[in-house]
Amino acid sequence: MPEAEQSNYKSEHSDKTPSQWNQFLDTFRDEIGTFEFQVFANEISLTGQKENTLFLDVPKPFHKDWLEQRHKDALETALTSAYSPNHSLEISVEQSMKSTEEPQVDDQTVSNDDKQTVNRNFPFANKTDFDPELTFANFVVGRSNQFAYNAAEAVADDPADGYNPLFIHGDVGLGKTHLLQAIGHRVKQQWEQASVKYISAEQFMNEILRCIQEKKMKEFQYRFRKNVDMLLVDDVQFLGKSDTTQLEFFHTFEELVQNGKSTVFCSDRPPNEIPKIEERLQSRFEQGLIVDIQKPDFETRMAILNKEANESGITISQEVVQYIASNVASNIRVLKGCLNNLVARASLDGQTITLESAKQQLSNYLEAQGLRKNEPISIEDIQHTVAEFFNISVPDLMSKKPTQSIAHPRQVGMYLAREMTNSSFAEIGDQFGGRDHSTVIHATRKIDNERGKDSELNGTVEQLKNKIKQP
Ligand code: ADP
Ligand code: MG
Repeated sequence: MPEAEQSNYKSEHSDKTPSQWNQFLDTFRDEIGTFEFQVFANEISLTGQKENTLFLDVPKPFHKDWLEQRHKDALETALTSAYSPNHSLEISVEQSMKSTEEPQVDDQTVSNDDKQTVNRNFPFANKTDFDPELTFANFVVGRSNQFAYNAAEAVADDPADGYNPLFIHGDVGLGKTHLLQAIGHRVKQQWEQASVKYISAEQFMNEILRCIQEKKMKEFQYRFRKNVDMLLVDDVQFLGKSDTTQLEFFHTFEELVQNGKSTVFCSDRPPNEIPKIEERLQSRFEQGLIVDIQKPDFETRMAILNKEANESGITISQEVVQYIASNVASNIRVLKGCLNNLVARASLDGQTITLESAKQQLSNYLEAQGLRKNEPISIEDIQHTVAEFFNISVPDLMSKKPTQSIAHPRQVGMYLAREMTNSSFAEIGDQFGGRDHSTVIHATRKIDNERGKDSELNGTVEQLKNKIKQP
């Protein structure tokens, strides 16, 4: 800011400004809540005032965006209450991303010995430690993962843009680690000097325990609290196991967030379902942005397979790709594994992959992987899977309740029992709460009919079949 403005500020307003500024901050805190205020308020400084304009400095572009985009109203309220409705703000970024600076080593906290150990043992992600395959470019986006993808990319492009932490959850094999690593790549691409650490919660806990035993907590804290711009923690469902480590984790996380560093977590379930998680940690997670990844729909599975085939220069018929996509729905690792398995076998045998050979081989492959049952499927299996899927109880499924929310799942269950087992209509009726065989015939015809017209129902049936086939 120009000289004149600085002196203007000092001479005319120095006696008046601090209390007004404090009042401004108090109102702003009331407006946005203590959590966000704690995270961000330290980053804002008042550098000057000229007439009705206040000049604020913030360290990073995302602070400016955060203030201007998310809290425009709160700023206005605070300004009006502490100054006047005619006042306005001008926010500037005082320096480039902190993370492009040399990492700062605080000699007070790390002895020379520790520093050597830090360098020697540093087992976590540097630029080269991210898997080169797991980038945003290699991630196929569909309805099931669009939201998680967008959030991950936003955080990578503008770290800690208010989404702190970003919490991604979803079942195994749906791309959580992929997104976490993609964030790491992107950040390192943009800010080469940034210290980005990727670690699984399990490794993190082991490190804490080792450092406690070896009395090296300072080293630990240096590594995870000071020398970090972005912390990416995978599989945090495993944090639930130990109190000591959770506490250390909590403090690490607090300190990073307080210092405006970003954090991203992945888990196979949402924060409130992590066993034995401390309440304050859970609520911390919940203050960020929570996104989930669902199982990919058929279209996305096709896209993933075709991309994989293209990139490896494989020629494979759409018929076979479709066959794989309709038989493996719940895990993208397995989906890709099936394709690669077929291709590997074909190149060994020197034969082209036909639908028949693919069927045979995939069934062997899935069985060998423990991904498909080889024992016969029972009606009970079907009932459990259907009830869970529709979020009702098994007794309800077998009851005589006529409500559509129960009658529909029941009909789907009967249909699947007829399709997937060798039971007669009468046997199925028996096991579904003692119904007449004509009721079962009606139900199976109805679902069979509707499947042809209703693609959502068709998808549901396919998904259920896959679930039932899994052990
Ligand atoms: P998770 O961590 O959720 O268990 P991963 O991230 O390890 O799953 O993903 C399993 C495999 O599937 C990896 O090889 C990953 O690259 C791949 N994968 C997952 N989602 C996608 C996607 N949307 N596009 C392409 N590949 C994907
Ligand atoms: Mg993973």
